[in-house]
Amino acid sequence: MFVLKKSALAAAAAAVALVLLAGLCLSAVGAANTAPAAGFCVVLDAGHGGADPGVRGVQTAVKESEINLAIVLRLAEYLEGAGFSVVLTRKDAGGLYGALTDGYKKRDMQARREIIEAASPNAVISVHQNSFPADRSRRGGQVFFRQGHAAGESLASSIQGRLNALGGNDFSPLRGDYFMLNCTDYPSVIVECGFLSNAEDERLLLTESYREQVAYAVFCGVLSFFA
Ligand SMILES: [Zn+2]
Repeated sequence: MFVLKKSALAAAAAAVALVLLAGLCLSAVGAANTAPAAGFCVVLDAGHGGADPGVRGVQTAVKESEINLAIVLRLAEYLEGAGFSVVLTRKDAGGLYGALTDGYKKRDMQARREIIEAASPNAVISVHQNSFPADRSRRGGQVFFRQGHAAGESLASSIQGRLNALGGNDFSPLRGDYFMLNCTDYPSVIVECGFLSNAEDERLLLTESYREQVAYAVFCGVLSFFA
C-alpha cells in the first residue's frame, strides 16, 4: 500500500500535535476536529465472527465476537477523528472464511493476515475478550505482544497503562504466542478488554458507555505510542 511521505516540517508538526493530543487524553478531552496522525495507518481486528463466537459471557452468554466488533467500531471513530487511516479486518458479524466448510478457521485467520499485509500498517490491534473460569474474580484489560518485538511491546505497554487506569489494575503486558502477533512483523498487540468469565466485567462490557471507555483507553494508548 502507498505510504505517505511527509516533509520533515510536516512530520515534526504532526509529532508535536500527537504529543498534545496524547496529553489531552490525560484530561479525557475529546479528540474531535484534530488530524495530527495523517499518514499513520492502524489495522483494527475484531476477533472471531461468523461461526466462531469466541468466548461467551457467564451471565448472558453474549458472544465475544459482538463485543469485539462494537469496541473496534468505536475505536475506529476515535482514530479516524485524530487523522489515522484505519483498516478493519471485519466490519460486520460475519467471519472472513467464505463458505463454512472444513478449514474455515484457518481461512479466516489467513484472510486477516492478508488484510494486514495489504495495509502495511504502523500498528495492528486485535480486540478480544478474555475468559478464565478457574478464577471468576479475575477482571480487567490485559494486553499481549510478541516476545522480542520491541515496538510491539512498547505499544502493548502504552495500551496496558491506559486499561490499568480504567480498571484500577497494575497488570503488565504479557508475551503471547498467537497467530495475530506472529503472522506479520508490524507492531501488533492483542487487547483482551475484559473477562467474560467475570459477571461485573460482562455487565459493563454489555453497556455502550463502558465499551466507549475501553475504546477511548485503547485510543489514548495508541496516541502515546505514536507521540
Ligand atoms: Zn478471542
